[in-house]
Amino acid sequence: MTRSGIRSLIEKHGILPTPQRVEVAGILLDKPQHLSAEQIIERLKAADSGVSKATVYNTLNLFSERGLIREVMVDPVRKFYDSTTRPHHHFYNVDTGELADIPDEEVAFGQLPELPEGTERESVEVLIRVRGKA
Ligand SMILES: [Zn+2]
Repeated sequence: MTRSGIRSLIEKHGILPTPQRVEVAGILLDKPQHLSAEQIIERLKAADSGVSKATVYNTLNLFSERGLIREVMVDPVRKFYDSTTRPHHHFYNVDTGELADIPDEEVAFGQLPELPEGTERESVEVLIRVRGKA
């Protein structure tokens, strides 16, 4: 994606495209991928960027809140940011720490519980944990 493409995508989500935000978005939205905040910080450093850690965390939170990216929690201490925002599911490899997409249409539910009164379904996401065969 070009810089101006990224800038207009950020604006489309109601966010002011500051240079730092464009830099962070440029890394994550480069291709369909899942990156942790630490991985994004490493890549910014490698690119000689001056964006601070705090700005990266704040920016990622803002992007997720506005639906520009998605958060995927794989366990209480590991959070990934996903450049793909349409509904889909994930494989999480506990050996390698890698997260891989599962297309939405590959998961079907036989039965789901009735929703609590006064609520509507926002999403159903599946995280399948896998490990290398012993
Ligand atoms: Zn994903």
